[in-house]
Amino acid sequence: MEFRTRAIHVGQASDPATGAVVPPIHVASTFVQPDASMTAAYDYARTGSPTRHNFERTLADLDGGVRALAFASGMAATHCATLLLAPGDHIVTGTDIYGGTWRLFNRVLADRGIAVTAVDTSDTNAVARAVTGGTKLVWIESPGNPLLSITDIAACARIAHAAGALLACDATLATPVITRPLEHGADIVMHSATKYLGGHSDLLGGALVVRDADLGTRLHWLQNATGAVLGPLESFLCSRGLKTLELRVHALSATALDIAHWLQQQPRVRRVLYPGLPDHPGHALAARQMRGGFGGIVSFEIDGSVEDARRVVEATRLFQLAVSLGAAESLIELPAVMSHGSYDPAARRACGIADGLIRLSVGLEAAADLRADLAAALRSAPPDRHG
Ligand code: PLP
Repeated sequence: MEFRTRAIHVGQASDPATGAVVPPIHVASTFVQPDASMTAAYDYARTGSPTRHNFERTLADLDGGVRALAFASGMAATHCATLLLAPGDHIVTGTDIYGGTWRLFNRVLADRGIAVTAVDTSDTNAVARAVTGGTKLVWIESPGNPLLSITDIAACARIAHAAGALLACDATLATPVITRPLEHGADIVMHSATKYLGGHSDLLGGALVVRDADLGTRLHWLQNATGAVLGPLESFLCSRGLKTLELRVHALSATALDIAHWLQQQPRVRRVLYPGLPDHPGHALAARQMRGGFGGIVSFEIDGSVEDARRVVEATRLFQLAVSLGAAESLIELPAVMSHGSYDPAARRACGIADGLIRLSVGLEAAADLRADLAAALRSAPPDRHG
């Protein structure tokens, strides 16, 4: 069956007890045992719960994995994957990654004896040079956030595996509609379900998906031991989000491409970053590695000061000024002070994330309305000639 059929039917069987077409939301935290020493399919909801399992089964199938684990947030999922490491181990990661991941790696793990090397992972040679005998995890994000860099997943998998390390890929921006990293050799896929999987800015969630059952068992053990699982209501909302994922991602990718082309023609816009643009440095790789579109995130820089960029993001009406991404409603933000404010400022600039960079999360509104909104903001926030 095709992706969008599986998104609706796998893990989402009608309820045998009532015939309800949508499986019920099971809120129980504990489950009756047949006797004191035996448990049934479920015993305690931290270990597993029916509504969470429905979402996990659908997502594992869509990502081409054998098992998915759903977490209370994307960061909880990422953190759980890093619990596979021990003090003395080494992580190679990217410079174009979500700010919270940067903080977890550089401020939490580094303080606990795990060494972290960040390189531009769109440069495969840089990844190969950064790997050492102690590297246990290579963590990439493709497309990267917020610079939309494209990393060659298959090449990184070969490098990681030759070093005896796992390759994990944060595929939040791509979603399984556009890129399925397990098919390119990654061992772990991570999603912030808060974004496109949920799709409506109304939940926090995360997931890990694996193609090796033993790795799934180890991660489930760690998840159960540490406890940051996805609740039943959020699990239901994620399952509902998956049913329209392909339609939403195709529609907003088309709008994002339209807006990226349009931005390139605006005199005040200096640079547009979008993997669907032929002049994007990762375009050829993106065309091979991404299917059915290039996603909904577009970043750009305008001529002028950081204050000028701030005025533009504060002037849009349809694009709401907010962090996060991946929902029906379009959002605009300044990564340097918002989504990537947890980077050390010097490190952030060294990674190429300029203070005035503007990031759009293109939603499901009509492209013409979104273009008009950006045009009005660029007009109403003229450059500060004295600034
Ligand atoms: N990865 C990416 C690419 C993100 O954009 C985010 C959140 O913005 C995360 C991970 C973290 O996810 P969460 O906010 O659900 O913890």
